[in-house]
Amino acid sequence: APALLQVRDLKKHYHSPRRWLAPARPAVQAVDGVSFDVARGETLSLVGESGCGKTTTAKSVMRLIEPTSGSVKLDGEELLSLPPEQMRLRRRDVQIIFQDPYASLSPRQLAGEIVAEPLRNFGMNSAAERRERVRWLFEKVGLRPEAVDKYPHEFSGGQRQRLGIARALALNPKLIVCDEPVSALDVSVQAQVVNLLMDLQAEFGIAYLFVAHDLAVVRHISHRVAVMYLGHIVEIADRDTLFASPRHPYTEILLSAAPVPNPRTPAKRMLLQGDPPSPANPPSGCRFHTRCPLAQDICKTQAPALSARPGNTAVEHQVACHFR
Ligand code: SF4
Repeated sequence: APALLQVRDLKKHYHSPRRWLAPARPAVQAVDGVSFDVARGETLSLVGESGCGKTTTAKSVMRLIEPTSGSVKLDGEELLSLPPEQMRLRRRDVQIIFQDPYASLSPRQLAGEIVAEPLRNFGMNSAAERRERVRWLFEKVGLRPEAVDKYPHEFSGGQRQRLGIARALALNPKLIVCDEPVSALDVSVQAQVVNLLMDLQAEFGIAYLFVAHDLAVVRHISHRVAVMYLGHIVEIADRDTLFASPRHPYTEILLSAAPVPNPRTPAKRMLLQGDPPSPANPPSGCRFHTRCPLAQDICKTQAPALSARPGNTAVEHQVACHFR
């Protein structure tokens, strides 16, 4: 069976408006040819520095941002060519949780109404049925049933994220895009919300496309991890392989800078040299060559393809580097 989500050669280029008589500025290549699958019930995390394109990729999958080109198939159906009304209908299968739950919740709606809204929009016409489903959802995400009559500002940050999760869960989605869902929360609350997401996945078989920069969280929740740099995926592997035996120089540096002790990564911290280049003017060849400690001449002219490396796990380990 095909994967639940199949993303192929996804691109998002932003064009800045051309000024009168001024030369057109180059397009910003926020996402530049990204391909990956997410299986049913799986968590795939996208990681990388800010500006690497991970959030743009995740939002493009739901068409909250319209991609420039590529293919996004959900259950075999192409989403990018769907007319708006049909895309709206497909959204019941793909939901999103945002970093800042407060910004995504209407402050003037009661919590119960916020969660009931998607139910009403998708045809659950009986108010009694909606009320019952909302109470059940509140229980599933660990909110007390009385909380239906509260406003979002009366909730703590963690409770608001639970409310966002209840709303995302309302329509039984197959996939939830999680855009930095715990990075605005206190560390103790982060663990509770991450564990809630994992429990819901175990119970309902939901797949997550999980965008995060916190590698400890990523290590806890992911089945597979894709590392992005300047709009490209540079490495993708199952979680244990990626954390124990990273192959791409960028992944190595990223992991060595993380506060997660790891016996297999070098004890010395490696630091990234220089600033990240602009995605409006990415380096030729391998985009990482301006900061890579292993770069050779070929790296300046030839872009390495993301390709499989032999390994002893069932899940394919892909790396984009001439020398790894
Ligand atoms: Fe570094 Fe070259 Fe590999 Fe790119 S292809 S990561 S520059 S060694």
